[in-house]
Amino acid sequence: LLPETLLRLVHLFARFPGVGEKTAQRFVLHLVTSEEDLAEGLAHELGLLRSRVRPCEQCGHMADASEAVSPILCSICRDSKRDGRVLCIVARVQDLLAIERSGAMRGRYFVLGKLLSPLEGVGPDDLPLAALHHRLSEAQPSEVVIATPPSVDGEATALLLARELGQRGIRITRIASGVPHGGDLEFADQITLGRAIEGRKQLTG
Ligand SMILES: [Zn+2]
Repeated sequence: LLPETLLRLVHLFARFPGVGEKTAQRFVLHLVTSEEDLAEGLAHELGLLRSRVRPCEQCGHMADASEAVSPILCSICRDSKRDGRVLCIVARVQDLLAIERSGAMRGRYFVLGKLLSPLEGVGPDDLPLAALHHRLSEAQPSEVVIATPPSVDGEATALLLARELGQRGIRITRIASGVPHGGDLEFADQITLGRAIEGRKQLTG
């Protein structure tokens, strides 16, 4: 019912998490009927996205890569006021942002990018364990906080990490339950997430 060009856009928007065909259609119709600057701004920013944003070379968080400085570091890694003794391991950038919103973490991060998932065929070899060891050797934290989500995959990943990092003699802690089981850290409220971090339990070390 819509012109081919718009349908193509609808299908692209529908690939976003949580966006169905109907919402995608609403986005597209809004784009064509609203002021020109929305579509133009979007096209401009999307064009820059690949060249201007890169994963931080230290932690995997999103970093501004437009200044052509090397290494490419995110704002957290560049912040000298951060507590270098604590390194928090998260699954995704969204989780890092949720933890930052809670205000309970003053340390630094490492973003895994994925979780162990036998169902989706993600095994230990698919996790960036070599990069994590490298990061730990460089950062020399005294505590590693495992903040993977309290889901089946998140717990399996936490166990693997505790075993993998246990040999390094660092204190390893896990965020406390309180975040609903199976729940996304992203959707936990700030107070609950803050308490889960403050009430973290020691696993090893
Ligand atoms: Zn970083």
